[in-house]
Amino acid sequence: MSGAISVVVFGSLVRSGIPGLFRWIAANVLIVAAFVALALDDTSPAPLTVVVASLLFASAALLVLQGCRLFFGLRPSRLHEVAAFTMLVIGVIYWACLSPNEAARVTLMSAFLAYVRLSVGWITYTRRPLHRPGYSYQFVAIVAALGGLVHLARGLAAGFGWEHHTRFLEPTPLTIAFLALGIVTLPCLSIGALMLAYDRMAERMERLAAIDELTGALVRREFMAQAELHLERANRAESRFAVAILDIDHFKAVNDAHGHAAGDRALAHFSSIVSQGIRRGDIFGRLGGEEFAVLFPETTRVDAMTLVNSLRLHLAASTLAVPCGEVTCTFSAGVDEYQASEMLANLMARADAALYSAKAMGRNRVVLAVSTGDEAVGATKDAPKPT
Ligand code: GH3
Ligand code: MG
Ligand code: MG
Repeated sequence: MSGAISVVVFGSLVRSGIPGLFRWIAANVLIVAAFVALALDDTSPAPLTVVVASLLFASAALLVLQGCRLFFGLRPSRLHEVAAFTMLVIGVIYWACLSPNEAARVTLMSAFLAYVRLSVGWITYTRRPLHRPGYSYQFVAIVAALGGLVHLARGLAAGFGWEHHTRFLEPTPLTIAFLALGIVTLPCLSIGALMLAYDRMAERMERLAAIDELTGALVRREFMAQAELHLERANRAESRFAVAILDIDHFKAVNDAHGHAAGDRALAHFSSIVSQGIRRGDIFGRLGGEEFAVLFPETTRVDAMTLVNSLRLHLAASTLAVPCGEVTCTFSAGVDEYQASEMLANLMARADAALYSAKAMGRNRVVLAVSTGDEAVGATKDAPKPT
């Protein structure tokens, strides 16, 4: 039932394109088929049914592992696993049909299932994205590891002869314990996989909502939210940060001369130069239109000005090929540093006023906010209008 329900629920996510989903669906279909095969064959199934059910379970387990690898962006199959699966097929057929030995068969199956479950747990734990809430990843890792330990214990019990069966799935205390735990961990694993799939979709949505599609910069709301976090951190830890507001010069002229599509490409070009030029940890956002902001953690305003100025030089030296020629853009920027206990809006207003000064002084330059007197770095004459 749990397998069938999982198929239905996973089915609702088919269009999400989440990697690994199809293998998880196929795994649950195989699990259902295995139980149906066993159920149809009364209380002591024929050796062939045991072989079919065992191999369906083993294939399902392998598919879960492969789905897990795909989910985390890894290559799904490994050569040694294909070899192990082949050995398993041979072993199960041999000990179920040719030379019946339940203990050996159960040991073999349990070892394989334990390996698969422990691998799922290990991959999920080591590959969990650290920027996401850990709950669902920890849940899957723990449930898979527990399932792995149950199978390991069952394999040991069968291998060392601690449980003796006279018939298939004889209700000895150990068998009942193993079955109960197995039955609990299977749906838990499916629920966990669903939680992972939903977390992946939430991550996508959050990304879509936070990132400006054209430029790859953070959208204004997200930039401001992150800036507020830095502000709180700065107040707590008495650390510092600086903010620069950048506005592309005469951008309307680019649109007018080359069309809106070329303007869009120029925005993307500007953004790629800024993204590549800033340091890891610096935050780049689009405030609106052709106006952007960069937050520089642990940076003085003078250092921030130097960084922005090197971005300015880089952009001014680059050209973008557009259908009817080339575009060279420049930008003007205003920079200032956070002062203890002030509001973010105050800091942004000072940087914005400095940007206004940079425009008034002729564009294509970086200006420090007025607190220690305007200082400008950049061109000494007005920025030429882009052609
Ligand atoms: P200044 O040097 O004073 O900043 O002049 P400017 O032309 O850059 O500034 P203005 O505010 O007059 O014009 C901004 C232009 O940016 C107008 C608007 O059409 C254009 N723009 C804003 N967002 C986009 C966009 O996403 N794509 C394109 N292609 N153009 C945009
Ligand atoms: Mg502009
Ligand atoms: Mg503007």
